[in-house]
Amino acid sequence: MTDQKEYLKSDSLIAAHYGEEYEHYYNAIVPPVFMNSLNVFETLDDYYDFDRTDRHKYCYGRVQNPTVRILEDKIAALEHGCGALALASGMAAASTAVFSTIKAGSHVVCLKNAYGPLKDLLTGYCREHMNVETTFVKGVEVSEFEAVITDKTDLIVLESPSSLVFSLQDIRKVSEIAHAHQAKVYIDNTYCTPLYQKPLDMGADIVMHTTSKYIGGHSDVIGGMLVTKDPELFAKLLHNRELFGGIVGPMEAWLMIRGLRTMATRLEQHQKTAMEVAKFLEEQPMVEKVYYPGLPSHPQYELMKQQQTGNCGLLSFELKGTLEQAVRFAESLKIFKIGVSWGGFESLVFLPHMRLNDQTCEELGASQRIVRIHCGLEGTESLISDLRSALERIY
Ligand SMILES: *Cc1c(COP(=O)(O)O)cnc(C)c1O
Repeated sequence: MTDQKEYLKSDSLIAAHYGEEYEHYYNAIVPPVFMNSLNVFETLDDYYDFDRTDRHKYCYGRVQNPTVRILEDKIAALEHGCGALALASGMAAASTAVFSTIKAGSHVVCLKNAYGPLKDLLTGYCREHMNVETTFVKGVEVSEFEAVITDKTDLIVLESPSSLVFSLQDIRKVSEIAHAHQAKVYIDNTYCTPLYQKPLDMGADIVMHTTSKYIGGHSDVIGGMLVTKDPELFAKLLHNRELFGGIVGPMEAWLMIRGLRTMATRLEQHQKTAMEVAKFLEEQPMVEKVYYPGLPSHPQYELMKQQQTGNCGLLSFELKGTLEQAVRFAESLKIFKIGVSWGGFESLVFLPHMRLNDQTCEELGASQRIVRIHCGLEGTESLISDLRSALERIY
């Protein structure tokens, strides 16, 4: 039997081998998809004494599944957590985390630039049904959190870097403030992946990943992940996942295990291309501003270096001129396809603000013209040439 501890020595080893007990699957180098809803027992006592935390014991597919467990063990190891839970989407993970940390009448502090549907959950369902009050902050200064936190604050929602204007939050300092008020810190770590940022080491309580992005990596799967290093919180999340019923399917988990094996290599290329694209865009006279945390011109570049070991293929920029020109630019691209997601092999372009009003845009810190692109794996030169042609056609 392989010593699993051997695999904990590096992130690449974890991604490739950790959590996979080859001797249990006829030494197949790829674990099987346990496509089953049920596991059976020898005796009734075996069933009633069943321990949900034992990785060799399973009872029912909504509770746990051996393929899902391999994925979870890998992500927990990569994030330095005590356990991880895979769910059916990023939002299934986000909502399970929210409902496990707040109660009726809670106060929540949330990043203004956090993922839109999560903000809608807080200001919609949670306010209407649970009388939850949410205060939004830009989050660039630590003092903003200090100014709004109260003894009723149970949760602080972060996303660093945020995925449109790429603003960062000081995870260590915000966690200290939160813990002084017995509040939990939740952070969406999808942008950095477990490879480029370890928020639990900096004091965050719950890390969330949308595995639909780089962990899946091939735009063929939807999923989410929660990780914590607090065993009490983990038990609560596990219990609630079982009650809310949001576990990911075994086939999806298997695809994510496959995605993890190449994630480090893919990310290196996404990052390299995005960096070159960002520099190219910064030099274009029609480009007003480029948002990418890897650029030394990023206002929080120093904080980025303290918290992250890399950046990914997602970036945005504001074009000079009119909204119509920005729209024509996006529609003139040939390799970059119009689409909302990111983290797959393909290059994408989107204008997330084009239908927002001026006031909302100002609050979010970017105009209607902001263009978000995901730099895929089609090759740096092809992508830059596509961007250059589209710019030439418009200006
Ligand atoms: C895509 C995304 C989500 C939501 O994930 P789903 O799997 O679509 O529910 C959450 N946060 C970020 C930063 C995302 O990009």
